[in-house]
Amino acid sequence: MLMHRQSLTAYAAPLCETVVDCPQPTGTQVLVRISRCGVCHSDLHMQDGYFLLGDGKQLDVRSGRTLPFTLGHEIAGTIESAGPDAAGATPGAKVAVFPWIGCGQCAACKAGDENICAAPRHLGITVDGGFATHVLVPHPRYLIDYAPLPASYAGALMCSGLTAYAALKRLSDRAARAPLLLIGAGGVGLMGLALARAMYGTAPFVADIDPNKRAAALAAGAAAAFDPADAGTRKELLKASGGIYAACDFVGSDKSLNFATSVLAKGAKVVVTGLIGGSYTTAVAMFVLKAMTIEGTQTGTLVEARELIELVRAKNIAAPPIAERPLAQAQATLDDLRGGRIVGRVVLTA
Ligand SMILES: [Zn+2]
Ligand SMILES: [Zn+2]
Repeated sequence: MLMHRQSLTAYAAPLCETVVDCPQPTGTQVLVRISRCGVCHSDLHMQDGYFLLGDGKQLDVRSGRTLPFTLGHEIAGTIESAGPDAAGATPGAKVAVFPWIGCGQCAACKAGDENICAAPRHLGITVDGGFATHVLVPHPRYLIDYAPLPASYAGALMCSGLTAYAALKRLSDRAARAPLLLIGAGGVGLMGLALARAMYGTAPFVADIDPNKRAAALAAGAAAAFDPADAGTRKELLKASGGIYAACDFVGSDKSLNFATSVLAKGAKVVVTGLIGGSYTTAVAMFVLKAMTIEGTQTGTLVEARELIELVRAKNIAAPPIAERPLAQAQATLDDLRGGRIVGRVVLTA
């Protein structure tokens, strides 16, 4: 059996098709035939080989990966075959693939935080991922039943949904005090908006510089939507909220984090998930005087992924707009994403 892939064969170069023999699962491995794989902003950074850090600096992310490489980490599919020790992996079962797989040995992995493993085996990041017809998963415990959700939604939940969910969970002790502030109403932000309403029962405030995204946030149930670039916004938001106790920065730029910290009440917390880039400075005393917490988080754990699927099922949280394109359009889709021409999410069909 052959496996078709849209491969990264060189950094900063277009993906191209490669065809190889399908791997045979051994031990606890499971071979999943991919039906959907979402295209994510972080795929662009992987293709470039770096993240922007601000001040013209870059974080090189080319190490730990051999070319040709298969990007894609928002995977849902069907179990094709399984190794002899892959207990519970039934061929034909439909599964979402948790991609943030760790080494299993380090302190983070032992605590269940495989997403921040020191020697990760993250699918589509350091191990071949989902822009392909098949993916090899090291153990069936990373496979999650997603019925009755659509496959494309289940895949997206493993990244943007999980990121938003894990960030919002970190604000649970503050969420009871006042409405949340969500900065950025793109894919992760809109998912965060839906999840925040389901988790905390209140409509959050949203800030985004793009009027279309503010309109989308209001249509999706935001309490109010603000333009952080507008000079009067800070006062307006402080008046409307009485000070923010809990904020998610889904943008992750100098501007977004400065805006977030400018509207905080004492004892507030900002969780940063965005990776747009830039650098942030503040007076050290502000941490004390404002009793401020700034926490970063990267995707989420396997337990959180299972909780999220359960929450989406239980609260019947609707999927964001998702368009489907054939796998062969992987590069065209990355180009459109880079050019800002994609509204909602695009999922490749293998
Ligand atoms: Zn992603
Ligand atoms: Zn580890």
